[in-house]
Amino acid sequence: MNILLVQRILSFKSCTQDAGIHFELDPVLDWYYLPNTNINNMDNSLGSTGTNQANDIASRLHPGKLVVFFRYGDGNTPTGNGFSDRMYRFVGMPSWDASGHDIGRLAHDIGHYFGLAHPFPGSGDTDTDEYIKTAEYIKTHGGTPEALDGDKIPDTPPEAGERYYKINVNPAKCSNINSVSVCVY
Ligand SMILES: [Zn+2]
Repeated sequence: MNILLVQRILSFKSCTQDAGIHFELDPVLDWYYLPNTNINNMDNSLGSTGTNQANDIASRLHPGKLVVFFRYGDGNTPTGNGFSDRMYRFVGMPSWDASGHDIGRLAHDIGHYFGLAHPFPGSGDTDTDEYIKTAEYIKTHGGTPEALDGDKIPDTPPEAGERYYKINVNPAKCSNINSVSVCVY
């Protein structure tokens, strides 16, 4: 954990207030180093030793808090994987260095923590990234474009996902999608 991480989280906290969301973070009391190999190595696998321990720590030691585990990952190559969903009591994030200080990823996975799904179907968009795969997906999921409504929330229309547009529509328009700023800091 480093001071940059605390600074970024504090800026995340202040910028989300613009969206009507209020987070509290005490930079001294609200984070600590946790030496735990299972949690360090966990991925998005419900019921694994790492996610079970992370759920237990979050719910037993920090009830009512949004708990985020920043982890390095297994082996020499740091994980780039961030995850959460309503089945977890925490958000799993890569280390801040491994994620390129990606505040957008933190916002993304906190969205999953609160139960939001992707606007496209599935956990990734490779099932619908080509014309023929998208057509097949629609055909086998009801036969209408509503098959692509991943989050079932009407504020976003059914869509095939980022990769579909990069491959089939206009890669230039999607080139910076992973670096969209959620706020200015
Ligand atoms: Zn996601």
